[in-house]
Amino acid sequence: MTNTSSSSGTSTPEIHVRDLHKSFGDNDVLRGIDLEIGQGEVVCVIGPSGSGKSTLLRCVNLLEEPTQGQVFVGGTEVTHPDVDIDAVRRRIGMVFQQFNLFPHLSVTENLTLPQRRVLKRGKEEAAEVAAENLERVGLSEKADAYPSSLSGGQQQRVAIARALAMGPEVMLFDEPTSALDPELVGDVLAVMRRLAHEGMTMMVVTHEMSFAREVADRVVFMDGGVIVEDGAPAQVIGNPSHERTRHFLSRLL
Ligand code: ADP
Ligand code: MG
Repeated sequence: MTNTSSSSGTSTPEIHVRDLHKSFGDNDVLRGIDLEIGQGEVVCVIGPSGSGKSTLLRCVNLLEEPTQGQVFVGGTEVTHPDVDIDAVRRRIGMVFQQFNLFPHLSVTENLTLPQRRVLKRGKEEAAEVAAENLERVGLSEKADAYPSSLSGGQQQRVAIARALAMGPEVMLFDEPTSALDPELVGDVLAVMRRLAHEGMTMMVVTHEMSFAREVADRVVFMDGGVIVEDGAPAQVIGNPSHERTRHFLSRLL
């Protein structure tokens, strides 16, 4: 959802990808991506498997080094050779298909550990921030539980809370509900919907078309390492102008 400081004004985009290329050997995975995401904007990225969606997200937070092109986050060029990669990553929360919680730590400890290690927060402050963010994802009562006692949907909500506890400017989601049993998907999407309404800038790779229709300000359709279509959900999902988009959407039904 676009908030009051939306992309429509003259403000710097929160995420700006410019002529981004990424190759693995002779596999040209990203072949010139240009994308701007305004503050508070929610962009869903859709497209077939292997089209480069994860690689694009991973280039935004420098889990992959682009072969060519630039990425700016909050006006800072994160692809600049002199950039402090750790400082950049602190500004970007990432949620993966696999939740990657520490199994030997309680839910609260999963949230406090990165705050203490990376942000050097003290014990009390980290615990306070952990509690706030567990409440945000509706899991206050699981603070002392261990990940193995939680459902997949609850574990994913803990992973979201863990990312939020770091105070990110933007959140990247890579198929956050793809590993979940269908009945657990809704709770995770509800948390993401709330975040969107709070004005978080979000880039979401997903196959959940109803989420994209409802929550996204824009939908980007990728195929073969390029953006084929970028527009309002009603346009890209409801009335796509490209045959490749229509073909992709028809296979989801
Ligand atoms: P998507 O998320 O759209 O399914 P990916 O970005 O994961 O697509 O992958 C796009 C292509 O990049 C695939 O052909 C995949 O094999 C390749 N690829 C992704 N990551 C790597 C890597 N670390 N090393 C080599 N090839 C990779
Ligand atoms: Mg992927």
